[in-house]
Amino acid sequence: MDGVWLLGGRDYRTEGKDSPNERLAFGKDAASRFPCEHVSMRLLVVEDDATIAEPLRTGLRREGFEVDLVSTGADALAAPECDLVLLDLGLPDLDGRVVCRTLRERSDTPIIVVSARGKEVDRVILFELGADDYVVKPFGFLELVARIRAVLRRTAGGPSPSASDVRIEAGALQIDIRTRNVTFDGRPILLTPREYDLLVCLARDPNVVHTREELIEGVWDENWWGSTKTLDVHIASLRKKLAPEIIETVRGVGFRLIDDAAAQ
Ligand code: CA
Repeated sequence: MDGVWLLGGRDYRTEGKDSPNERLAFGKDAASRFPCEHVSMRLLVVEDDATIAEPLRTGLRREGFEVDLVSTGADALAAPECDLVLLDLGLPDLDGRVVCRTLRERSDTPIIVVSARGKEVDRVILFELGADDYVVKPFGFLELVARIRAVLRRTAGGPSPSASDVRIEAGALQIDIRTRNVTFDGRPILLTPREYDLLVCLARDPNVVHTREELIEGVWDENWWGSTKTLDVHIASLRKKLAPEIIETVRGVGFRLIDDAAAQ
């Protein structure tokens, strides 16, 4: 447990000393593993519980982030642009879910939702809110930092989208990149964030074979070390939700999304 803060629980370790674990995970070589941190990222932390907010701000600053802290939904909506929003859903003035949706309608700034109850947030609700990830209180500080970095990596870089980047059409498939709405044959398709990322990866270049490595690197973190079976599970799920024939397996290589119209 050394090096882990339990925020929202009773076990706060706010003395600000690096434990050996923390140095190992986020030490001086962190910048080389997380390239985006050469530029200081500005986080907006929306949290009304000061016993969580203050140690969180201290910890995140120590990790090299700039942190703006607000305690109400109204202040969150009035806050200036930032690189990522950490949003507690239980706010004193506004429904956190409304704040989340409003922020998402306004910009593509990544949002990590913080919930006190696990069942309050699941992947479906996350999708509906337009959030990028979530953590459940009490959460470990290191887990939170890892999630923040993963979301920043996924969403960082890349030029702002041009008009042709905003919408992807491949046969019966339509993807609106800004709203993350997916329809197939006019029918709305509810996808998890990973399924969505995977589908976008495939649909950006229909009929082109994407290798397993390419897809895993593009959709999961570059430091992904889990089983590549995860990829197959997500492909199977996409086939089930869309149509079995839409994604073709290219044996020993990878997958491609079939768009007959584009191939002609
Ligand atoms: Ca709260």
